[in-house]
Amino acid sequence: MGTKTGRLIVASNRGAYKIHETPQGIETVPAISGLVSAVEPLLKELKGLWIAWGGREAAPGGSPPLRLRVPADDPCYTFIEVPLTAEEIERYYYGFANNALWPLCHYFLEKCHYRLEDWNAYVQVNHKFSHIILNEAQPGDLLWINDYHLALLPSLIRYSKPRLKQFFFWHIPFPHPDLFGTLPWAPHILRGLLGADVLGFHLNSYVDNFLHGVAALVGAPVDFKRKIVYWQKRRIQLGAWPMGIDFEEFQSLARDPGVKKLASQLRKDIGTEKILLSVERLDYTKGVMEKLLAWEKLLEEKPEWVGRASLLQIAVPSRTCCPAYRELKKGVEAAVGRINGRFSEGTYRPVHYFWKGLPRAELVSYYMAADVMLVTPLRDGLNLVAKEYVASRLDGTGVLVLSRFAGAAQDLKDALLVNPYDLAAMVRTMDMALRLSLEEQEERMALLQEKVRRYDSRWWLSRFQQAVMSLEEDASEDFSETASS
Ligand code: UDP
Repeated sequence: MGTKTGRLIVASNRGAYKIHETPQGIETVPAISGLVSAVEPLLKELKGLWIAWGGREAAPGGSPPLRLRVPADDPCYTFIEVPLTAEEIERYYYGFANNALWPLCHYFLEKCHYRLEDWNAYVQVNHKFSHIILNEAQPGDLLWINDYHLALLPSLIRYSKPRLKQFFFWHIPFPHPDLFGTLPWAPHILRGLLGADVLGFHLNSYVDNFLHGVAALVGAPVDFKRKIVYWQKRRIQLGAWPMGIDFEEFQSLARDPGVKKLASQLRKDIGTEKILLSVERLDYTKGVMEKLLAWEKLLEEKPEWVGRASLLQIAVPSRTCCPAYRELKKGVEAAVGRINGRFSEGTYRPVHYFWKGLPRAELVSYYMAADVMLVTPLRDGLNLVAKEYVASRLDGTGVLVLSRFAGAAQDLKDALLVNPYDLAAMVRTMDMALRLSLEEQEERMALLQEKVRRYDSRWWLSRFQQAVMSLEEDASEDFSETASS
């Protein structure tokens, strides 16, 4: 991907590495996120630039952006760090991105904090990104901006470099304007995004919500059928492109003898007939507590599973500075303690809880060891873990229990779909998953694998490629504001 002549420049809040300063020099530590899983392989292939915050505090006076060739063991693209001060991190990242936009877009209005000083920092940091990008971008480059942290960036860049081609991908849900409109700066966010040439979302419903938001809160002409906004004599094309994964990479990891060995060791260590697995950042959107309560209820109502089935809960540390996340951790760990206290017998433990992230090969060994994968977020833009589990099941068995409120459920309809807010339904579905016949497992898994294989990361990127090509073809057209709303 790229334009005919230029480089690919990716911008996002975080890149693929956290930067640490050690007495030995700069150290890069891999970061875990769906965005990294999707974007880094492309940058490695195209050897472009990634402009992002490095996850550390910069001195208040400001240091120049750090440039690094990454990954350290096989440098193939350039990472440019956007230095953020402690105050910017507190207000832009924790304040506005994590305590306003994140809960708002995941339908947690009661967790939203709308503070003017956080908004001001958000504006300031978007300007900071734009200065660095404007310094780097050359004619013919393609800028690919990612996610809700940088919603103002497209218009800031458009103002100074009107001809630079820009894509924006919004990785989380986009809510209906009835909800989005509660944000005092909602029209600014929408106008900021309209600086892009192409705007991508995972689902059609997110695109529709965005279009309704633009019509209601900005008043720009919108063509709902063709998913186009006409704004400032430009045509902005929207698209729904659910992110895919590298199916073959997961299959080949699952074939690796070392990974297979780890999987069988894990089964031996857990020692129960059935293993249920959950892997997610410890985030209130992921429904960890609701799932634990359902597991507890199932053990209560169906005591035949006590001693025969264990839940492995991998909770990846996330946003630990936010009080809501610290509270969640306390609550989850108390629930794990209570369930283990109630149902442990001898060496049997109903919940094995890990507060850490796993490197990919190890993660695949967990996917391989699990009879049942529980992906039950209360709301999730997409969810890659669900797809990764499917891709790792070489033998074609295994059961995916998937929340209806994960974007991935739109494609993965052959999973056991569940409403995570419905305790009785959760209990029923988990029980059903544990009892599903091998034949039905294989039938469902084959259909799921077909979907994940076909709509993989290559397919996802090809959607962008097509959009780039249509941009280039359309470059000479005049897009006056002709649509009706
Ligand atoms: N992941 C990982 N190690 C872990 C847990 C998760 O590498 O211990 C990766 C996982 O493979 C996936 C990403 O983190 O690619 C999580 O993406 P997802 O869309 O499921 O959720 P997000 O964290 O982006 O909300």
